[in-house]
Amino acid sequence: MPASQHYDVVIIGSGAAGMTAALHLANTHKVALLSKASLNQGSTRWAQGGIATVVDPEDSLEAHIEDTLIAGAGLCHRDTVELVVKESRKSIQWLIDQGVPFTPAEETADTLHKSEPSPLPYHLTREGGHSFRRILHADDATGLAISETLTARVLQHSNISIFEDHLAVDLITRHKLGLADQACVGVYALDIKLGKVQALAAKAVILATGGASKVYLYTSNPDGSSGDGIAMAWRAGCPVANMEFNQFHPTCLYHPNAKSFLISEALRGEGAKLTLPNGEPFMQRFDARCELAPRDVVARAIDHEMKRLGLDHVCLDISHQDADFIRGHFPTIYQRCLELGIDITQEPLPVVPAAHYTCGGIVTNHKGQTNIPGLYAIGECAFTGLHGANRMASNSLLECVVYGRLAAEDLLDKLASFKEAPELEDWDESQVTDSDEDVVISHNWDEIRRFMWDYVGIVRTDKRLERAQHRIKLLQSEIHDYYSNYRISSDLLELRNLATVAELIIRSAQLRQESRGLHYTLNYPETAAEARDTLLTPDRW
Ligand SMILES: Cc1cc2nc3c(=O)[nH]c(=O)nc-3n(C[C@H](O)[C@H](O)[C@H](O)COP(=O)(O)OP(=O)(O)OC[C@H]3O[C@@H](n4cnc5c(N)ncnc54)[C@H](O)[C@@H]3O)c2cc1C
Repeated sequence: MPASQHYDVVIIGSGAAGMTAALHLANTHKVALLSKASLNQGSTRWAQGGIATVVDPEDSLEAHIEDTLIAGAGLCHRDTVELVVKESRKSIQWLIDQGVPFTPAEETADTLHKSEPSPLPYHLTREGGHSFRRILHADDATGLAISETLTARVLQHSNISIFEDHLAVDLITRHKLGLADQACVGVYALDIKLGKVQALAAKAVILATGGASKVYLYTSNPDGSSGDGIAMAWRAGCPVANMEFNQFHPTCLYHPNAKSFLISEALRGEGAKLTLPNGEPFMQRFDARCELAPRDVVARAIDHEMKRLGLDHVCLDISHQDADFIRGHFPTIYQRCLELGIDITQEPLPVVPAAHYTCGGIVTNHKGQTNIPGLYAIGECAFTGLHGANRMASNSLLECVVYGRLAAEDLLDKLASFKEAPELEDWDESQVTDSDEDVVISHNWDEIRRFMWDYVGIVRTDKRLERAQHRIKLLQSEIHDYYSNYRISSDLLELRNLATVAELIIRSAQLRQESRGLHYTLNYPETAAEARDTLLTPDRW
């Protein structure tokens, strides 16, 4: 007997985007908030640098817009950039009202910048691509501060039902139920602890599942960034755009015991120098902006030097700065490095580039709507046109909170007119058995991430992409067989999604026959005169 649980809105993902939407909806609507781990285990928690908005009186909305457009290498959608920049102050004020403890201006030991203090109450830092200091931060753990503050609010809300350790498997549309229209009416979710699949029905569903950087061997992202939302939306019939633009953060700590530890760009903003292991600086040979060039330029320069000299890392040196300044501004990085035996006040630290941010994603409009009625996508899983061919630092948390609010506001306007979701069928497990060969999952997981790194990484060629395409086809067919015959597990579901996202990245990279922003190919090193998005549409639509 089917017994789906009914909500007004199901939100899949509890990062900055999902929690923002949940909190805006919950005063008047019943919300289910799903996370495949605990509430604060997405990328949001790990964001260090901060969130961009114009507060310095010398800065302007126009300058923020122009900087974003320049970083995006001709592919940003100007209307989206203008919208996000214009909406930024309101969204950041909302974060402040929720209690996010941004670092106040007067409490920083700012020995570097002797200029007049900002008349606004928060300390501003600067990052690559920004022509002004416009990054609000909570020391060097901004994401943690946002995540903990919003989590506390969500936990207090009686209208928000929390489903931790629930992994969304697939979206349910009326079309899949054999009904006439396409509207999204819910989701199947695996209760990871119990191993059971539940159907959650809703008038609307919001995907806020974060990025897909786990598709690469080296990444700054947490384990959950397997592109689940992008893969689910694709399977449900949503177009995706610009999946070839994967941002590689230039500086992740290179240390055997430091999985995914990012060294914030703010270090370079405060004067840290990139050097070869012998201490020789090199960025001046690649770009006049040196360490403050956009991330793609810096990542490619490091990749070039590592390949040229056969290095396994380069170095980042801030030891010329005052030790108290370093400890005061970068307490998390300082402490983490110290635990690993590196005192950044005294010595350089070894760094490598790593996959960091997924610029492409599910195509959405200015309200976060996808092409499927009742289905929204917000945050890193969405493609809004904000980032173009390269995301500017600290614009992504901003995109999460702006679109989290805009999607919620749209739903607040429209939900009353949406149909009630029908009763959903139970998940059918009658045709599958327990797997006795889980090694297939771990093997394929490793294989995808390694060939994506080698063939679809910072520097691409036609040949490498062909090789990658060949491999992903074989793996997808193996994964499909496995999925059809065996009972699902979280590892299998993530692998299936990772393979879909890998395929979408490879196909998009093959379609872009130029080098632009984050996509660099030796076969087409020039940038085309005309900038175009790469749009992929699922076959049957
Ligand atoms: C190390 C690091 C540093 C960064 N620094 C900055 C910075 O300084 N400034 C900035 O603007 N950006 C920064 N970014 C990028 C930014 O943090 C992310 O883009 C942003 O936090 C993404 O938020 P989100 O809400 O879209 O997703 P996330 O915060 O990644 O949350 C995703 C959520 O979806 C859930 N989920 C995923 N799949 C499923 C599924 N199938 N079922 C159920 N739940 C699911 C996860 O459990 C999680 O709750 C950084 C990223 C990293 C990794």
